Amino acid sequence: MKKPIKICKNPDCGDQIVNYISSKKAYCDDYCRNHHGYLRRLEFNLEFDAHKKGMAKNYKLLKKYVDVGINNEDLNKLLKFGFDPKYLPQKNIYKNRNPSIVYYIIKDIIFELDPQTNHVNIYPKKI
Ligand SMILES: [Zn+2]
Repeated sequence: MKKPIKICKNPDCGDQIVNYISSKKAYCDDYCRNHHGYLRRLEFNLEFDAHKKGMAKNYKLLKKYVDVGINNEDLNKLLKFGFDPKYLPQKNIYKNRNPSIVYYIIKDIIFELDPQTNHVNIYPKKI
């Protein structure tokens, strides 16, 4: 029986793996395996940095509201000011309230997205 054609999983290589013995072989050699691992870590770190930066930017914007005592803003307005809902911390759900309202905590701020009014409620976190 002919062996199926295997292509090296290192995206910078893509060569066909010739004369492999184990069907689990995924790379030409150690270099290709290590290089793919390196690329994956690089990508992960870039995503991680982008997320951290995005959250910091969101926090700065929301903090301005809390600092002047405004606790409610239209989500569309926030988006226009640069708020990016792609970069949010872990989602929380109120257990004894309308379950469709979720809230997030960044540092000393709590904010909730109300899908019914499309508004964001912003509060200082009580210590
Ligand atoms: Zn390779």
